[in-house]
Amino acid sequence: LTLLGLESSCDDTAAAILRDDGTSHILASVVSGQTDLHAEFGGVVPEIAARAHAERLDLVVEEALDHAGLTLAEIDAIAVTAGPGLIGGVLSGVMAAKGLAFALGKPLIGVNHLAGHALTPRLTHGLAYPYLMLLVSGGHCQFLRVDGSDAFTRLGGTIDDAPGEAFDKVARILGLPQPGGPSVEAEALGGDPARFALPRPLLDRPGADLSFSGLKTAVLRARDAVIAKKSGLTAQDRADLCASFQAAVRDVLAEKSRRALYGQTGLSGFAVAGGVAANQTLRAALEEVAAGQDLPFVAPPLALCTDNAAMIAYAGLEAFRCGQRDGMDLSARPRWPLDLISPALIGSGR
Ligand code: ATP
Ligand code: FE
Repeated sequence: LTLLGLESSCDDTAAAILRDDGTSHILASVVSGQTDLHAEFGGVVPEIAARAHAERLDLVVEEALDHAGLTLAEIDAIAVTAGPGLIGGVLSGVMAAKGLAFALGKPLIGVNHLAGHALTPRLTHGLAYPYLMLLVSGGHCQFLRVDGSDAFTRLGGTIDDAPGEAFDKVARILGLPQPGGPSVEAEALGGDPARFALPRPLLDRPGADLSFSGLKTAVLRARDAVIAKKSGLTAQDRADLCASFQAAVRDVLAEKSRRALYGQTGLSGFAVAGGVAANQTLRAALEEVAAGQDLPFVAPPLALCTDNAAMIAYAGLEAFRCGQRDGMDLSARPRWPLDLISPALIGSGR
């Protein structure tokens, strides 16, 4: 079975080709990023993103086919992100996928973007159900128990910002380049994580919910206090602020992971995905949490942790096997909570 996957829910236009012959092989995965287009605005501008997706979808599909050495006629099914995300981008992808499915007379499968992230450890490591997943990116932060391709239970998540967003804002506060995650991590290497006593939000409360917006404000205050005292920030001040902030994020995510894992039975592993999972300090802490519970720790390669279409093709493959087929009435859903994928869970109070 050969699937074409399309992704356009945020600021990456992506196409991938996945072949499954018992095991899944990524034949091609093309990602066209838009960071440059949005850089001057300090955030993703929906109209600009939608236009770029519409312009680039055909190109990334062509490029993916080219890499894979296939023609459209050799594609058996088309999987596309149908939400959640920026409506213009999701619509561009859904319309492109409908056009291809209709023209080729092949099945169309609408995929939840978050399911794509959450199922990636199966694509990359063949991780068996059930497992616990921490999805930690620029737009999301949640713990999911994954029992099947359409059976997700949210065990907790951020009540405000996502950690990636906090890394990006801290970078802005300190005058470091975007995306903030990598630049803050690089600065933190030479910093003292104990110099600034930053808060560990929500650790005093039970459960696995998280909060990051107060942490970002605390960094701003700490910066201003240093500037007030010395009329400027030295490179060391900046490194210490980065290291202290990163340590706070790490501590909170590690402790909340421990709590999310606590009491879960039968898990085959603890997996992470999302751009923030690239952070080495965080990875090491999470790995330790998993080891403490005798669970394998699974972190997919970075290119498959951030937005891509291979994960969409893979989630489409699992849905296809479960019998999912969508029609020309497939709609784009800007909001689509993952734990509502399974009709069995709707109304269960989660
Ligand atoms: P989503 O996919 O949830 O809609 P997104 O597209 O912003 O959101 P990703 O592409 O998965 O998410 O990740 C990007 C985020 O990851 C950015 O906020 C970036 O700062 C952060 N990030 C990348 N590398 C690192 C790192 N080494 N440490 C911390 N954060 C990082
Ligand atoms: Fe994503």
